[in-house]
Amino acid sequence: MTFKNTPKIELHTHLEGCAPPSFIKGLAAEKNLDLSKIFTPEGGYAFRDFDHFLQVYEAACTTLQSPEDFRRLTLAVLEETAAHGVVYMETFVSPDFCGGGDLVAWREYLAAMQDAANQAETQFGITLKGIVTGIRHFGPEACKPAAKCAVETFGDFITGYGMAGGEMVGRPGDYAYSFDMAREAGMPLTCHAGEWGGPDMVADTIRDLRVARIGHGISAVQDPALMEQIAEQGIVLEVCPGSNVVLNAVEGWADHPIVKLRDRGVKVTVSTDDPPFFHTTMTAEYDMLHKTFGWNEDDFKTINETALAAAFCDDDTRARVAKRLETT
Ligand SMILES: [Zn+2]
Repeated sequence: MTFKNTPKIELHTHLEGCAPPSFIKGLAAEKNLDLSKIFTPEGGYAFRDFDHFLQVYEAACTTLQSPEDFRRLTLAVLEETAAHGVVYMETFVSPDFCGGGDLVAWREYLAAMQDAANQAETQFGITLKGIVTGIRHFGPEACKPAAKCAVETFGDFITGYGMAGGEMVGRPGDYAYSFDMAREAGMPLTCHAGEWGGPDMVADTIRDLRVARIGHGISAVQDPALMEQIAEQGIVLEVCPGSNVVLNAVEGWADHPIVKLRDRGVKVTVSTDDPPFFHTTMTAEYDMLHKTFGWNEDDFKTINETALAAAFCDDDTRARVAKRLETT
């Protein structure tokens, strides 16, 4: 049983983290960069744990040096993602990896990504929107230029602001300035929390950063009152089960709390996070949810409806994607 052809929406991906290893290898060869240490003999990405994963991720990003590199990356990622039935995808993009936080450079990178997204929409029937992210382990000060880039380019393609990176660096409130800046500009917000941090990290993120969505959020399962609060406020969790399993944030698929969260009325969605790093695809996520928890077409329909309602895109795009979910 495979759900490869089921239309899908995913809200939580990192653009560079979706890069096929062969694509990064090719770029490294073009630029004479020696990245042999970040690949396994089989050609995948090699890392030991979450901190090492971040290092390997950033090493892979050193190959992406120009808007043209990001145009090629975006196209390669969307072709691969669309092959798994994804009709709408949101992806985290970081000015830190695109011109070092400089606004003029950022606009050029963004234009290249948007150009590729337009081409992919025509060619592969997938819509891409970007969420600008600050990188938490670079510190609160470094997140400010990222938020400024977000605010200045908020519009058709850039639809939200968020934060990724090492969750255990600082407390959510340390980053409030950047989130306030984005909120005042009318941007919807999301933030990684509760992947490594406990329920207190999720609670602080909701209180101090006032986000509409949480990246992961799975540790909320440890606190019934928090689950109730999340359900009541309609905060949506961007759950990435395969990522959690590979990084040992949970013991295994059977232990994943997605069902418990859903049963408590928490709105959950399903995404891949950084698919080639975690040996996953959206097809694999759906197939494993089916195999582990017996989820079927009706469950996936609900998941996609939740995701579409929580998507940061404009209503015209939402209506267009809704049709694609019905007719694909
Ligand atoms: Zn993530």
